[in-house]
Amino acid sequence: MNEQDFLPFTRPSIDELTIAEVGEVLRSGWITTGPRCAALEAALSERFGGRPVRLVNSATAALELALRLCGIGPGDEVITTPLSWVATANVILAVGATPIFVDVDPLTRNIDLDAAEAAVTPRTAAIIPVDLAGLPVDRDRLQALAARHGLRVIEDAAQSFGASWRGREIGSTGDLVAFSFHANKNLTSGEGGCLVLRNQAEATAFERLRLQGVERFPDGTLEVKAWGGKANMTDIAAAIALGQLRSIDGFTARRRALARQYFERWNRGAGFELPPDDFDNSNWHMFQPLLPRATAARRGEFIGAMRAQGIGVGVHYPAMHLFGLFRGLGWQAGQFPVAEDIGARTVTLPLFPAMADADVARVCTAAARAVGCLR
Ligand SMILES: *Cc1c(COP(=O)(O)O)cnc(C)c1O
Repeated sequence: MNEQDFLPFTRPSIDELTIAEVGEVLRSGWITTGPRCAALEAALSERFGGRPVRLVNSATAALELALRLCGIGPGDEVITTPLSWVATANVILAVGATPIFVDVDPLTRNIDLDAAEAAVTPRTAAIIPVDLAGLPVDRDRLQALAARHGLRVIEDAAQSFGASWRGREIGSTGDLVAFSFHANKNLTSGEGGCLVLRNQAEATAFERLRLQGVERFPDGTLEVKAWGGKANMTDIAAAIALGQLRSIDGFTARRRALARQYFERWNRGAGFELPPDDFDNSNWHMFQPLLPRATAARRGEFIGAMRAQGIGVGVHYPAMHLFGLFRGLGWQAGQFPVAEDIGARTVTLPLFPAMADADVARVCTAAARAVGCLR
């Protein structure tokens, strides 16, 4: 097999026009935050029904600064899922608050909202739900829960750009919504992210948090009254994201079509558990079957057998409370059996807009063969 036949689990689609537009930014003499960032904020705001949108250089920054915006810090608890990228809990630690993990729903693999409600204490300040693989958490139940307990909701929608809940696009409703434009996400700027906010006052406060606390006045003077970080986006990144925004609805449609093909062609005899076959809400950020339980301990061998057939496989994610950082804070194996089981068996198979139909067939055949070798 030669090098170009290797099928990675994901790959960004960047068109020639976008590449030319990035070139224009580089030639313009203004490469940091500027007109492209302003245009991208306006375009995203329009997409999300006029809500304010503020760009940052990662979703991690969006989440951390959202927590700071809400005044969350030492003594506060924030409820979240252990089945996510570790950024989701790292940001809670970053502001000095306490992450409270609860188990996930075995079907959706997203935070179990009953368990979340049971974990609410007088110290609970917020909940950070994650739309794993782009499958949205139930927004109706989420908002009702938050309202009952007076919690802020900071949606980690890093994976769910273009997804929707009951016909309403993620980002267009709710409290604070963070998206990622990391290279592997459905809409990329290389690295980047944004926060969708509820009102102008919070958007203005967020602008100060993202750039050194600086307030600028019409007469050219400035003042700093409170701490701010350094998380602004560059116009180079914004030019990439603007190009992606032209294509995102086509990307999402293509991802859904490829996911449908996976369901049609998958070898049901091979013993995998497939993800929920949701084609209304999910943006199909990832396609993640679970390995048969008996083979879970040999996931590395499965990945190696796929690689030998020219196919890249990812793992998103091991349950994060089992990482040393969180074990050191008292979390233990056995506390979240569903998340631990999914985290041990999950594999991310190739799914990205530029994939050919024949690639899906090839992955299905290879996966059945690779798991067969483990028996
Ligand atoms: C990618 C991701 C993040 C972090 O996004 P960055 O832009 O890399 O900071 C956070 N949460 C989830 C669920 C992610 O997938």
